[in-house]
Amino acid sequence: MPTNSFVHDTLGQRVVLEAGGAAKNLAAEVSRLGADRIMLIASDAEADLADRVAAGLPVALRWTEVIQHVPVELAERAREAAASAAVDLLVPVGGGSTTGLAKAIALSARVPIVAVPTTYAGSEATAVWGLTEGRHKTTGVHPSVLPVTVVYDSTLTLSLPVGLSVASGFNALAHCVDSMWASGSDPINRTLALEGIRVLAAGLPKVVADPSGIEGRDECLYGAYLSAVAFASAGSGLHHKICHVLGGTYNLPHAETHAVVLPHVLALNAPAVPEIGLRIGRALGGDEPVAALERLRASVGAPRALKDAGFDEADIRDAAARILPVVPPSNPGPVDRRVLEALLRAAWAGETPVGAA
Ligand code: NAD
Repeated sequence: MPTNSFVHDTLGQRVVLEAGGAAKNLAAEVSRLGADRIMLIASDAEADLADRVAAGLPVALRWTEVIQHVPVELAERAREAAASAAVDLLVPVGGGSTTGLAKAIALSARVPIVAVPTTYAGSEATAVWGLTEGRHKTTGVHPSVLPVTVVYDSTLTLSLPVGLSVASGFNALAHCVDSMWASGSDPINRTLALEGIRVLAAGLPKVVADPSGIEGRDECLYGAYLSAVAFASAGSGLHHKICHVLGGTYNLPHAETHAVVLPHVLALNAPAVPEIGLRIGRALGGDEPVAALERLRASVGAPRALKDAGFDEADIRDAAARILPVVPPSNPGPVDRRVLEALLRAAWAGETPVGAA
């Protein structure tokens, strides 16, 4: 895309990032927004983190039921509870599922969100919402679901197990890589995406080497933000279309699915756009992008096989048929049913992606 011809929207959002500063910074945002009836959303696994950051705040309702991909029945229950408690601010403290529930409430209730993320999923920096009905996941974009403020504090991610930290970091990397060729890709979001790749590739090995160290956690959280801003602007590419179907239809774990699928999509697309592939490879600290991503995967022990994430080999044909109609027309690599089935089979088995030899 030429740099002298594009249309780029930047989403309006305040970002406050300070290791150890979440409680203070969240209190300042609550006071700035004049909120006095907060709905605090955090799953049981995130409860201690929520206690830490929300102590002393005017919490009118505490919500603990959180389910990945936000089933519509759960969203309805949470919306009714929010309305009965007349809440005036939603504060999700947790991963993408917790943020996602807050978004589902905001979508209908038009109550603002101040998000306190504790994984690298990045949902907090996008205006994308998602709801699942049965085996079908629907997503949409609406300005009302974009948190007005994100409060980042890397000390809140210290309790995220290393395996989940790595998978979640690869979810963020996937936002960056897909942003390089999604339909809304432009020079601004590509710059953010490449910096996101560079920061995540530096941070993830530090998290693995020293899970309780702040430096790597800080880098991953900042990289997650960059990745989400790039993705929010560039839109969904092939990678996200594949993972959306896999997650929504077969209920696979979000971060792990992204981590496994990413190298296979990179191997498919990079040869079709070598200049972009080279930029991705350099951001990863090498040249050839698939090999560079493989080195990173190996060094941090990233998940490799969809069969380990609960995907059944017998569902490969069905999944390919579901993905085919949503393949972005702008995807650089050639895609047909046969290509998708081969990609899914390689990802299912945990094979080395083509191009990484
Ligand atoms: P998640 O929110 O389901 O969290 C995974 C697990 O980690 C949960 O059990 C959670 O309780 C736990 N956890 C979270 N933070 C923790 C911490 N600091 N310490 C210990 N445990 C912690 O998983 P996720 O990968 O963060 O988010 C996935 C969901 O987010 C999916 O539904 C996905 O569709 C959505 N998502 C949406 C967007 C968007 O733009 N709308 C972007 C990315 C992800």
